[in-house]
Amino acid sequence: MRAADQPRKRVVIVGAGFGGLSAARALARAPVDVTVVDRRNYHLFQPLLYQVAAAGLSPADIASPIRAILRRQANAAVILAKVTGIDAERREVIAGDRRIPYDFLVLATGAKHAYFGRDEWAAHAHGIKKIDDATALRRRILLAFEEAETEADPVERRRLLTFVVIGAGPTGVEMAGAIAELARKALAADFRAIDPRCARVLLVEAGPRVLPTFDARLSEAALRSLERLGVEIRLGTAVTACDEGGVTLGAERIEAGTLVWAAGVRASPAGRWLGAAMDRAGRVEVGPDLTVPGRPEIFVIGDTAHARDGDRPLPGIAPVAKQQGAYVARAIIARLAGGAVAPFRYRDYGSMATIGRKSAVAAFGRLRLSGFPAWILWGAAHVWFLIGFRNRLVVTLSWLWSYLTFERGTRLITGGDPEPRRRPALPAVLQAGTAPSASTGRSRAFETAMAD
Ligand SMILES: Cc1cc2nc3c(=O)[nH]c(=O)nc-3n(C[C@H](O)[C@H](O)[C@H](O)COP(=O)(O)OP(=O)(O)OC[C@H]3O[C@@H](n4cnc5c(N)ncnc54)[C@H](O)[C@@H]3O)c2cc1C
Repeated sequence: MRAADQPRKRVVIVGAGFGGLSAARALARAPVDVTVVDRRNYHLFQPLLYQVAAAGLSPADIASPIRAILRRQANAAVILAKVTGIDAERREVIAGDRRIPYDFLVLATGAKHAYFGRDEWAAHAHGIKKIDDATALRRRILLAFEEAETEADPVERRRLLTFVVIGAGPTGVEMAGAIAELARKALAADFRAIDPRCARVLLVEAGPRVLPTFDARLSEAALRSLERLGVEIRLGTAVTACDEGGVTLGAERIEAGTLVWAAGVRASPAGRWLGAAMDRAGRVEVGPDLTVPGRPEIFVIGDTAHARDGDRPLPGIAPVAKQQGAYVARAIIARLAGGAVAPFRYRDYGSMATIGRKSAVAAFGRLRLSGFPAWILWGAAHVWFLIGFRNRLVVTLSWLWSYLTFERGTRLITGGDPEPRRRPALPAVLQAGTAPSASTGRSRAFETAMAD
């Protein structure tokens, strides 16, 4: 049979995150049929999820339909399905009752939160990995202020207005800064019985510094920016319990209404589907060409893979996933042509994290930036990497608007009516005869209570 008469090879990509989409797009001109399988119908830009949780952006601003992204790619089809296993012998992806055959398989199914074996903490310490997580957290944060407004008991009110973020990597730092700014700026003038500026935001980190993967000078700059926003930082402090009422840090108890988990992730179950060797975080140990040992037709990339650059395990970040996706496409194209590619090498172009709406830290090679210039770079890079012109435009305008006005455009409490809380009678400060303070319009009684 001539090569032109042979059936085209089928490449199935599971996961349309950073890694999977990058692989699919890089195969656009390859003589293969690409099938992208995802349990969601959209690609999510996770680095900006915290802004959805902090009411800065709406979910649609950071997500794009997978079908629309691949609309013009004639060799690509999309299947909306949750993959539940792989039959590696028969070369089929299992999604419930459906079987999807492949010649090459790319597993790019990402990661989820991990609680270091304390899964019971998940009910209380809320992670952000999905849009639903972010909108649920937004609801929780905004409801805390609403409930505090009508709460009579000053101790309970203080608990409601205490927010603890666990883990001071980029997500934790960004989340703590965003909550502090929401309380101190966007909500500051909107309540009558409480002063949102008195909300307490704590960032707890077991290690010795915030942003541990950045160099010490940038960690220090980030710490100072957080302190300027009023975030209390506890370094070298491990969380020993999380429950409905708050968090325990060894001998110290902090009563808090909202706990945010930004301390650890665990890979998707792809390793279990394959019966492959995994590291402690459940990531599949892949070879230098990102294939599973003994299975040259199966690639695992992104947060689901444990890949190494020399001695160094590669971090679970978007650029690693994207570069791996592009590499896998090149490897497949080379193999179809009877060749091979050199082992995967990661090119580190730098890292960034933002603190609030006008400060960031950035490291590019030897260049170190902090403060506003770093924030401009951070903003430009994130807008650039967002998918879709609409999203880029909307996010840029939202940031400009919030920069100029401190407003947060998406302060929506979604997800149903507020559940009834066991609530005593209206607080004295809201009852007739209690004069609001002349300076702020809020009750003096409350200002005193919050200052305690
Ligand atoms: C809050 C947050 C902030 C972050 N900030 C940054 C940052 O600032 N910079 C940075 O570089 N990285 C950041 N990251 C990490 C970055 O987002 C990940 O490293 C990157 O998304 C990994 O890409 P991936 O393709 O491996 O997986 P993902 O992008 O997570 O994509 C996985 C895809 O697989 C799909 N999927 C999963 N399981 C199944 C299944 N069983 N069946 C079908 N489909 C499935 C999912 O729906 C998803 O679309 C952040 C992550 C989070 C959560």
